[in-house]
Amino acid sequence: MPRSPLIARTLPALRRALEGLRARKATVALVPTMGALHDGHIALVRLAKRRASRVVVSIFVNPAQFAPNEDFGAYPRTWKADLAKLAAEGVDLVWNPDVKTMYPEGFATKILTEGPATTGLEDRFRPHFFGGVTTVVGKLFTQTRPDMAFFGEKDFQQLKVVTRIARDLDLGVKVTGAPTVRERDGLAMSSRNVYLSAEQRAAAPVLYRSLKDAARRLKAGDDIKATMKAAADAITEGGFALDYVEARHAESLAPVASLKDGPLRLLVAAKIGNTRLIDNVGV
Ligand code: AMP
Repeated sequence: MPRSPLIARTLPALRRALEGLRARKATVALVPTMGALHDGHIALVRLAKRRASRVVVSIFVNPAQFAPNEDFGAYPRTWKADLAKLAAEGVDLVWNPDVKTMYPEGFATKILTEGPATTGLEDRFRPHFFGGVTTVVGKLFTQTRPDMAFFGEKDFQQLKVVTRIARDLDLGVKVTGAPTVRERDGLAMSSRNVYLSAEQRAAAPVLYRSLKDAARRLKAGDDIKATMKAAADAITEGGFALDYVEARHAESLAPVASLKDGPLRLLVAAKIGNTRLIDNVGV
């Protein structure tokens, strides 16, 4: 039987647990999650285990990054299964605060970022989103004081934003991104995939397929505008309502006019029924 991780739900419990973990100069890695863990999260945990001697996973469904009309209430919560998975990976500590612990009465502070958080991608369609992410990630970093933290490339803009806050606030955390883990048919794993009906699930791989096709065309020298238009058409014909599908600079996320402006990243966000999915690939 794998040993169950320590579980902390209050700040004093977290502090005590971290003091124990930090003994003998251990290096501590943090993997922030909202739970409903899948193989994408587990890949981050495994990478963290390889790089650090102690691994902390946070599970907190962060209300601040959901708009009132979004799925905070419906977001899948699978605590028992999550804990079993983390035990099997040999995770040392699970930080699982409740909303009142994270945002006590009167909470009035927000971390606001520019740069990658204002590039007209997720921020354009979910204007509340990055304020919520940066504030909670800033808090998770100061609460756990990790030496390193791991985030998925699946949320590519988010990865750039949290890398920025770690640097800008001198938090001493090395942020590392990890490649997107996919289902066999290419669909990026996501806690939200459980919302998909069988029909929607069958349609969903069109996102990745269209991005890969576009990447191939761009590498072969095709025009960016025409290529991205073809990707948009394929995604729409596949049953999605598109928020955006764009070619951007892979570091700055600035718009690009040609492959020479690269390295490029192709990013998509689209809705099928009520479910909004995102994905991205490198070129
Ligand atoms: P979430 O629980 O959705 O907030 O995600 C927690 C972390 O897991 C974030 O850093 C995500 O980017 C990462 N993540 C989510 N899905 C995947 C995936 N399919 N592959 C790799 N990382 C992922």
